[in-house]
Amino acid sequence: MPARHILVINCGSSSIKFALLGETAEQPLLHGIAERLGSADAVLRWQSAAGQQQQAVPAADHRQALARLLPLVEAEAAGRLGGIGHRVVHGGEHFTAAHLLDQPTLAAIRQVSALAPLHNPACLQGIEAALSLYPALPQVAVFDTAFHQSMPPHAFRYAVPEALYREHGVRRYGFHGSSHRYVSRRAAELCSLPPNRSSWLVAHLGNGCSTCAVVDGHSRDTSMGLTPMEGLVMGTRSGDVDPGLHGHLLRELGWSAEQVDCMLNQQSGLLGLSGLSNDMRSLEQARSAGHPGATLAIEVFCYRLAKSLAAMSCALPQLDGLVFTGGIGENSALVRSKTVAHLRLLNLALDPEANARCVGGPDGEIQAGGHPRVLVVATNEERQIALDTLALLPN
Ligand code: ADP
Repeated sequence: MPARHILVINCGSSSIKFALLGETAEQPLLHGIAERLGSADAVLRWQSAAGQQQQAVPAADHRQALARLLPLVEAEAAGRLGGIGHRVVHGGEHFTAAHLLDQPTLAAIRQVSALAPLHNPACLQGIEAALSLYPALPQVAVFDTAFHQSMPPHAFRYAVPEALYREHGVRRYGFHGSSHRYVSRRAAELCSLPPNRSSWLVAHLGNGCSTCAVVDGHSRDTSMGLTPMEGLVMGTRSGDVDPGLHGHLLRELGWSAEQVDCMLNQQSGLLGLSGLSNDMRSLEQARSAGHPGATLAIEVFCYRLAKSLAAMSCALPQLDGLVFTGGIGENSALVRSKTVAHLRLLNLALDPEANARCVGGPDGEIQAGGHPRVLVVATNEERQIALDTLALLPN
């Protein structure tokens, strides 16, 4: 059978990111974004071997943007488009793995949408549009939460009344599953260890950030919870705060629940701490110029990350390595070195030259000689979604 191509689609409320991947290639044949959907300046941008291109799609919604995009993809795939993989943020407890999209699957995704009211409805819009445009093409939902369904109850339960779990699904779910899965497997390959018999700590550090304990290819714990707000300091998200903060702000400042949510989601994290930016690159530059807010934001980010990794080590039988990934993890030698410096009791230490070398590209080991492995591994969530999709296609 000729190698098949998979289109990976990631819908946000006003954007669609897409990538066309070959069955065996790591890098996409075509990738791009449709953004500002619903507005007069909506635009479709993509890149392929032919270079960068763009088309204005004024006022296009998700369906109209996909209707423009799919013929481009088909032309690039030259008759080998085998299926579409949709990234879906929340699969609740219903989805422990990727799933072929049909009416019952759509209904189940709708049912868990209350757990991700900002994310799942946008995914559903994209899925419904793609299904109506290409009804005969197999399409698969790949969930950010599914990889973490292997967490044991002592890792996923909150210490709140049981009825909240039983009747309302209040528990820890975790996110970034495709990334944690992809990089932990890749780390095992790079170190010639069997993925199904090795243990990893993973730090996915992008605009959203999370840690994960991966044992024998399964997630045993992760830092995000019911929502992608729990855990680490992120670009604009606070991560963990005292749960008493909510009541305090409501009582003392008269804030509404929406104001608290908005502050913790959009005005906190690196941006809130630094008073300057949510972008680590800008903060590193400002720190070099002596900006106190940027300096503090980076210190808090790294200390909290190290604390989370130390906590995740409770879920491991042994430590085969710590993996850094995501835009910050793959590029910031400063964040890696400050974080690892807090993890002396795990016997972790970096080789400064190797750490400085792994910026903007090469994967590799960066630990000092005689210490447990520390790796930089570029994530490729699109590739993982394509692999999960391929696995469900009829042969
Ligand atoms: P997303 O979660 O949106 O996919 P990315 O994984 O692209 O985000 O990560 C974005 C973050 O990576 C930003 O904070 C950005 O500043 C940071 N980053 C990218 N390149 C560098 C670099 N060279 N040094 C430090 N931080 C970087």
